[in-house]
Amino acid sequence: MFVVPLIERKRDGGALTPEQWSALVAAYTDGRVPDYQMSALLMAVVLRGLERQELAALTDAMLASGQRLAFDSWSTPRVDKHSTGGVGDKVSLVLAPLVAACGVAVPMMSGRGLGHTGGTLDKLEAIPGFRTALSLAEAKAQVMKLGVAMMGQTPEIAPADRRLYALRDVTGTVEAIPLIAASIMSKKLAEGLNALVLDVKRGSGAFLPSLEQSLELARTMITLGEDRGCPTVALLTAMDRPLGRACGNALETEEAILTLRGEGPADLLEVTYALGSEMLLAAGVEKTSKKARQRLANALASGLAAEKFEQVIEAQGGNPKTLEDPSVLPQANEVEVYAAPRTGVVTAVDPRTIGRAVVAMGGGRIKVEDEVDPTVGFVITVKPGDKVLAGEPIASVFARDPDGMKLGFEALGRAIVVGDKLTEPALPLISHRVSKHGIEELTRPGSARTSHSPR
Ligand code: URA
Repeated sequence: MFVVPLIERKRDGGALTPEQWSALVAAYTDGRVPDYQMSALLMAVVLRGLERQELAALTDAMLASGQRLAFDSWSTPRVDKHSTGGVGDKVSLVLAPLVAACGVAVPMMSGRGLGHTGGTLDKLEAIPGFRTALSLAEAKAQVMKLGVAMMGQTPEIAPADRRLYALRDVTGTVEAIPLIAASIMSKKLAEGLNALVLDVKRGSGAFLPSLEQSLELARTMITLGEDRGCPTVALLTAMDRPLGRACGNALETEEAILTLRGEGPADLLEVTYALGSEMLLAAGVEKTSKKARQRLANALASGLAAEKFEQVIEAQGGNPKTLEDPSVLPQANEVEVYAAPRTGVVTAVDPRTIGRAVVAMGGGRIKVEDEVDPTVGFVITVKPGDKVLAGEPIASVFARDPDGMKLGFEALGRAIVVGDKLTEPALPLISHRVSKHGIEELTRPGSARTSHSPR
């Protein structure tokens, strides 16, 4: 395939036809277009954007690169959620078994770490033996048996996204609304869903930090979903600080397990319940948010959700003891406590600095072929607004060697800022709900829900 004219057209601000997108994605997936040409084209998209019909064609071509899960006449409702990427975001590990324990099937297809953000697959693979490369037949059989499967893209499922995602991760081409939207929606539309719930992150640790960009990304994905027969809603959630306390693959998996056992941090639980309620409502198994939340809380308190995760671990080849005893997860060689440098108020815990440090310490990829070290990362026990005393332990660093430990300490020194008083309030944890009907602001003083028109 002759790709140079297509790169030049996008570089100069032109549009490719749907046929060109389709041929290009097919050729790239088959290995007929080299990574260096695709990288140049992706960069042109980052800089120039895509027209609406180009985005639709790219998404459809990525979707068509593989097969779809087909549940035929199986009547159990199927709903999934996907996050646009964050730091400390282990929601999927708690949410998938929790929602399945409430009677809604979750065929969850996730990605690996991307840029400074972590990926669900890397977290799951921290569990000794856990296999995320399920075939379509295996995924379908497991969803129909257990109500949930947690898998990655394979040559059968959205293979174009698998290759593009890995390429974007190492070429500075993640931060673009059309590329994120096509990546997420091509995976999700292959899952045979009845509905989809999106967690769109906003704030300094999100790929697209501003509120306007987050809303635009949400609307773009909702349009792609709704136009393809998949009802889609989005919640905007805060990523101006890490979610929960743990950042790093095995540490996050452990925190997810603690949360399933009822011992998780409040912010993680709150986001999980909000997304889970949307999933139960979208599936039609509950009619009000209040009842949906109660059902989720019951499934967690009764141990049903934890049991479901144990079944998933066992079915996917992981060590089933992990749930009962998370110490079977791989452990870092070195652990040290980080203390507050002064007395005052925590004014920032910068998620981007933390996420980049996890990658630099070996917990993410710098080159496509890099192996991820599941053991490294941080547990940070303070949030913006917390008062601290000089010398008080506020975090732990988990590293594989003294160089990693040094990197970790330096990163915490930059990321956790202690000042005299909070200068900027933290973002509300869950600020907006976006659907095809428009945008609801969930946190406006005086009015819990305010509607705006979508555009
Ligand atoms: N999550 C994805 O699946 N793809 C992206 O591009 C970003 C986040």
